[in-house]
Amino acid sequence: MTKALIVGGGIAGLSTAWALARRGMEVELFEQGPLPNPRASSYDEHRITRHAYGTMEGYAHLMPEAFRVWDSLWRAIGTTHYEPCGAVYFLRHDDGWYGGMSRSLDAMGIGYRDIPLDDVERRFPMVQADGLERVVATDGAGMLFPVRILTDLVVLLGRLGVRLRTGAPVSEVDPERGRVVADGAVHEGDVVVVAAGAWADRLVPGLRGVAVPSRQAVLYLSPPADLAEAWAAAPVMLEVRPEGGLYTLPPRRGTRLKVGDHVFSRSGDPDGDRIAHAGDLQRLWPAARAAYRDLHRYSVLEPKACFYTVTETEGFLVNPTGAAGWLVSACSGHGFKLGALMGELVGRAIAGEMPATEVTELAAGRVTHPRWRQAVAA
Ligand SMILES: Cc1cc2nc3c(=O)[nH]c(=O)nc-3n(C[C@H](O)[C@H](O)[C@H](O)COP(=O)(O)OP(=O)(O)OC[C@H]3O[C@@H](n4cnc5c(N)ncnc54)[C@H](O)[C@@H]3O)c2cc1C
Repeated sequence: MTKALIVGGGIAGLSTAWALARRGMEVELFEQGPLPNPRASSYDEHRITRHAYGTMEGYAHLMPEAFRVWDSLWRAIGTTHYEPCGAVYFLRHDDGWYGGMSRSLDAMGIGYRDIPLDDVERRFPMVQADGLERVVATDGAGMLFPVRILTDLVVLLGRLGVRLRTGAPVSEVDPERGRVVADGAVHEGDVVVVAAGAWADRLVPGLRGVAVPSRQAVLYLSPPADLAEAWAAAPVMLEVRPEGGLYTLPPRRGTRLKVGDHVFSRSGDPDGDRIAHAGDLQRLWPAARAAYRDLHRYSVLEPKACFYTVTETEGFLVNPTGAAGWLVSACSGHGFKLGALMGELVGRAIAGEMPATEVTELAAGRVTHPRWRQAVAA
């Protein structure tokens, strides 16, 4: 029986473990903290998922398969952690986003429509309507609930016999021999997968300076009472702005309203704290005030710092690293929605169901019309 060692228990590592365990492999997963780990990028109340990817069309075309993998997870855990509330894009400038979005959504048969600018204030009383060029509502989008997903995945993996080692930081990886050193002890397998998120460059030297850890800020807010109903019914909201994007997740299914920006700090130490300080928030506050009216009336529930990694193109690096090693570095700002699919693709490659090169190309977002050879097992 093939034995796989996995380093990292975020969405990428847990999904890879699930894909391999489902294929009958013996799997052992090493996580430096608890499972799930509140310090992981994957650990949050909600994450956006959507088919609309603007100019990153290769990623848009991964989404139908990504949704299928999530559906197979919902079947396996017996519940769904997806809220299909749609996404609305508020364009304050357009550098090709609309063209890329409409091309890929047309090709995938996903609906979208303009919202007349003179109807924005009525439908979205919280939005700063001045300066909007276009507003587009898209289907095939909503929110995933990561803490619940990670927790259910951990329980599922336990049921499948995966050995879960917590408080087990891996200090060395030998991708040629399929070995890791954790807590001073050597562990041997046939294949070792590094899915260590923002810490991955400490174990895979070639990643240094290529996938750069980036400390990012988010704000959890409580809206004033007169806007609470509008927020409770709001879709996922994304601002397309010249100085970088802003995204907002409404409070749904027991989560809080969250605002974050898509401007990368490209700095910070993932071992650092998770509280957003004034310096972390210096870009987010002005962007949020420009997007939403009366922001001073909102209460700040939590200013939080989190990490992901940034590559030059925002693409993922998912590839073999030696005779018996794989790297799953899909820890960018858009990696959660695709995390389960990345694990599944790596599982297919390790099981010999798909060429490794194809997985690398798909994960990098370089394939605009993928052809899926096999349906995901229920
Ligand atoms: C603020 C913010 C907002 C985001 N919004 C979205 C969104 O709306 N939609 C979306 O799709 N994506 C979003 N993302 C991105 C997404 O969350 C990440 O890309 C994804 O969760 C990365 O998962 P991962 O498993 O690669 O990394 P992680 O979740 O960080 O998992 C890596 C794990 O490896 C462990 N580890 C590291 N080193 C070692 C070691 N040496 N030994 C043992 N264990 C180790 C860590 O403790 C961690 O648990 C967002 C990210 C952030 C930070």
